[in-house]
Amino acid sequence: MKVSQILTDKGREVHTVSAETSMREAVDLLGSRNIGAVVVTDSKGAVTGILSERDVVRATAKDSLGFLQKPVSSCMTARVVTCSCDHTVDDLMSLMTQKRIRHVPVIEGGKLTGLISIGDVVKRKLDASEQEAAAMRDYIATG
Ligand code: AMP
Repeated sequence: MKVSQILTDKGREVHTVSAETSMREAVDLLGSRNIGAVVVTDSKGAVTGILSERDVVRATAKDSLGFLQKPVSSCMTARVVTCSCDHTVDDLMSLMTQKRIRHVPVIEGGKLTGLISIGDVVKRKLDASEQEAAAMRDYIATG
């Protein structure tokens, strides 16, 4: 299955913040939307970073709660690993494992068009395994 199909199923909404947004606001967004990461974009919509719950944990360990007054740029990862709609679920699984990340923004025509989380990848892998098992059961029952 390709990334384009996952986005058709789950939608293309991505929660974004600017690099100047306060960490307080970004943490509120992660909590209120029940999400693990927000993508950081500039005024033209270009991706300039990603901030995940792990960055919040790291900042808390380093700086207690003082980081909440700081801008997102002080805690985000600036070199963002992205994918395109043509990547497959297996490509993303390898990418997430190799890079030890759980979120990958999707870029199409230079624009942010979705976000794939590790949960999306695991769901598709489980669905595929279940379909395979059902096909095997059918084959045995009718064979
Ligand atoms: P995660 O596992 O996605 O919660 O993120 C773990 C660490 O990797 C955090 O420091 C994130 O800022 C960073 N990270 C998450 N996703 C990406 C990505 N697509 N590209 C680069 N860094 C990322």
